[in-house]
Amino acid sequence: MRIVLLGPPGSGKGTQAIRLAQQLGIPQLSTGDMLRAAVSTGTSVGRKAEAVMESGGLVPDELVVEVVAQCILQPDAENGFILDGFPRTVAQARSLEDLLLAKQLNLDCVLELRVDEDVLLGRILNRAREAKINRHAVRVDDTEEALKVRLQEYRRRTEPLTDYYRSKGILRSVDGLQPINIVAASLLEAIARELCVPKIQARA
Ligand code: ADP
Repeated sequence: MRIVLLGPPGSGKGTQAIRLAQQLGIPQLSTGDMLRAAVSTGTSVGRKAEAVMESGGLVPDELVVEVVAQCILQPDAENGFILDGFPRTVAQARSLEDLLLAKQLNLDCVLELRVDEDVLLGRILNRAREAKINRHAVRVDDTEEALKVRLQEYRRRTEPLTDYYRSKGILRSVDGLQPINIVAASLLEAIARELCVPKIQARA
């Protein structure tokens, strides 16, 4: 099963992607995590991505596509994957299609988490505050200033993807303002509907 999870920063994409990956037994591929790992280990991709990530901007398409191409061709992604944070532009969506097409594969569904913009800042600042209290690493882009840029980028470059995937008939939207468990159940229901099965038996 090949799934894309779409949603603005702070919509709960990461949380839900991890849960879905566990429940479905397929890997979660988060481009944000991969890029942060590249920055912290100082790879050439990381060095190129660092400043733009810190400001809240989007990393150039070709860099991210290169990172994703390596992952989706790995044996652990053979039975599918959940893409979290990719694609973020229509050009990335087209590159993804080309990568999959080359292996005669396609996307099964695109799940969109819908969350009002006015709750996102509170969620992000809360995450930064909690990370600090628990002495976890605080993301350098979890600031009011960077979030403004992240939201602008989302609206301008990522939101058009909803129309793109809606026109292909594979977009399913879920209310991301509900409690975490309800959002998780709604996502599973949406996948089951897409696959035309009555219910998905989540893994223990
Ligand atoms: P969030 O969705 O909360 O903003 P992510 O962890 O998904 O956070 O991404 C963090 C940052 O990593 C983004 O702001 C961007 O700079 C970079 N990034 C992640 N995925 C992509 C992508 N597909 N294209 C371009 N940049 C990306």
